[in-house]
Amino acid sequence: MKLLVVANWKCNPASFKEAQDIFKEIKREAGLTKTEVVVCPPFVYLPVIGKGLVLGAQDVFWENPPTGGGAYTGEISPAMLKNAGCRYVIVGHSERRRLFKETDEMTNKKVRAVLAKKMKPILCIDRFSQLKGGIKDLSSDDLKNLAVAFEPLSAIGTGKPYLVGKAGKMYSGIREIVGKDTRILYGGSVNSQNAADYVKRAGFQGLLVGGASLKPREFIGIIKAIS
Ligand code: PEP
Repeated sequence: MKLLVVANWKCNPASFKEAQDIFKEIKREAGLTKTEVVVCPPFVYLPVIGKGLVLGAQDVFWENPPTGGGAYTGEISPAMLKNAGCRYVIVGHSERRRLFKETDEMTNKKVRAVLAKKMKPILCIDRFSQLKGGIKDLSSDDLKNLAVAFEPLSAIGTGKPYLVGKAGKMYSGIREIVGKDTRILYGGSVNSQNAADYVKRAGFQGLLVGGASLKPREFIGIIKAIS
C-alpha cells in the first residue's frame, strides 16, 4: 500500500498569499518521494491554490443534491469539491465533533456522500465506536477507497504525541475491523522526529498532520522521514 501523508491546514492561513507560499514550498519537494501527499487547505483556497499536489477538503455536506447544490446555507456539496479538484475529504475530525456536535450518523452520511462522488474519505476517529458508526453499511469496495485516521484527542494540537506502542495496539484493533484494504493513518502532534516511529514501528500506512503541515520545512522532513 502506498504511504499517504495528509496536511490538514485547519482554519489557516489568513491570506491567500501565505497559502500559496506554503503550497509552493511543499510542492517543490513533495513530488520527489514515492509517498502520496495530500494538502487540505480551507475551502476558499481550493480552486485557486494551484496545481502539482493532490488536494483534499477538510469537511463536506452530507447530501448529494441532484443538481450538485441546493438550499443548504453555508454548506459545501460533494459535487462542488469534486469540481474544485479534490480527491480526498477529511470527515469527522475531532474539532468538528467537539465544536459542531458532529455525530457518527452524520460522519457516516458524509463518508457515503464522498464515496458516491468517487472521492476518498479520510475518516477521523479516536475510538472504535466512531469507526464502526462511520463505516456502517460500506461495501468492501468502499473500504478500499477509505482511509481511517486514528487521532487520539490527547495528542491533537497538544505537542504530546501518543505513545507509539499504544498507537500500534489501536492500529491492530482498527485493522481487524476494516480488513486488509483500508489505509490507516496516525494523527496527533506528528513532527519530523517522531513521524517514522508511527509508520515503521507501529505499522501505520501514513500520517495526518495538523500544525506541522503549515511549516513547509518541517512537513517535508516528515515526508522524507517515512519515505
Ligand atoms: C489534526 O488536527 O488532525 C492534527 C493531527 O493536528 P496536530 O498535528 O497539530 O496535532
